This record gives sequence, structure tokens and C-alpha cells, in this order.
Amino acid sequence: MNLSNEIYDEIGALLELETDTAVQQLSRDKVHYYLDRSLEIGRLAAKNYESKSIYDLYQKNNILVEELLYDSKFTKMYRKRAEIKKRNKEYIVTLYTKTIEITRQSSDFMRERLQMKMFFSNEQLKQLYLAHEFYHYLEFTQLGFTYENLEKIKKKTFFGKSILKGLVPTSEIAAHAFAQTFCKFPMYPSLLEYFDLIFFKEMTELQFVELINNSKKIIIDR
Ligand SMILES: [Zn+2]
Repeated sequence: MNLSNEIYDEIGALLELETDTAVQQLSRDKVHYYLDRSLEIGRLAAKNYESKSIYDLYQKNNILVEELLYDSKFTKMYRKRAEIKKRNKEYIVTLYTKTIEITRQSSDFMRERLQMKMFFSNEQLKQLYLAHEFYHYLEFTQLGFTYENLEKIKKKTFFGKSILKGLVPTSEIAAHAFAQTFCKFPMYPSLLEYFDLIFFKEMTELQFVELINNSKKIIIDR
């Protein structure tokens, strides 16, 4: 499995999109519309910051960084590596350093299993997640939320009414694409989350391969 291949960017993005169950009601064309547009939005935004240092960007934009040394395991399947918050008038990015270290370990573990040629250091991963949060900062301050800028979809409310809402995972897809492009990271970052799951035996390698293969069918079938 050569995860550097661009098709895996789309697969990673699709897995992200599918976290919203409303996606199940979409046509194949619409799924591709959300994937293509959100990947493109993130990649294009990164072009504006070519060969810039993420630390300089944080400094120039007065974004504070706090590092928490524990593992942020929110649910069985979900860890957070970083997040951005607005506190008073300041933006603060929290990095969960221990979780990033776990991701480094799980990517080392998977490197051997998948015979990948990539190696990631803690520092590289730290910059990757800082870049991801920087994209969210741009959404807050100048770009607008990615899901607000794309077509809304009909969702049923609790009372059975239909309302138009944005597909929130498109923001995540764009943020990952931004971070990947900005850091010249060799694979789509959301796939790292699956490495953690396999590492902690919350998913088997076979399940991962099946998930990838099923997604690949959807990506190829345009
Ligand atoms: Zn995010």
C-alpha cells in the first residue's frame, strides 16, 4: 500500500466525510463534489503560505500555543491531537503532546507492517497539527467555514422538519489537505488516526485494508 499515492488522499477524505451519516443519502456525484472541493480549498489555501514557517505564522497572527502532556483519548475510537479555541480575544491552540507521541509510535509500527518508506518525527507531527489548526484559524478569521462555503444538504430535525445544513466534515478534510500541502507531508494526515487504532488493537489490519478497498471502489467509480 503506497499511501503517498494521491488516491489515498481521496480515500482519507471520504472516510472523514462519512463520519456524517447524512452522507449516506448523497449521490455518488455529490460525494465527489464534496471531496474534490474541500481538498482543493485546503490545498489552495496552503499555496498562499508556501515555504513559510508555521512558528512564524503563529507569531505574526498572535496565536498562542499550549502543550498538554497527557493523552487526549475522548472515546474508545477517538483521540484529539490538537484543537483551537478563542479565549477572550485571543486564539489558543492546544497540542496534546502525549497523543502526538503515540501517533509517532503507531506510525513507526505501521511503517514496518505496510512497508512504507516514510518516517515521521515528533517535530514533524507537531508542525503538521499546528498547520491543521492554522487552517481552522483561517476559517475563523478570513476564509469562513468550509462547510458554509459549500452546498448545504437537507437534514431532518428532531421534529421531522427539513432544514439546510452544511456538511461539517468538509472543514476537517480541507484542514488535513492544508496541513499536508503546507508541511509537504507524504500522506493524507487523517489516515494516521487509523494507525493509532491498529496500534491499540481497536481495529485489525485486515479491517483497515477492507475499509481502504471499499472506499477505493467509491473513489474510482466516477
Ligand atoms: Zn480539525
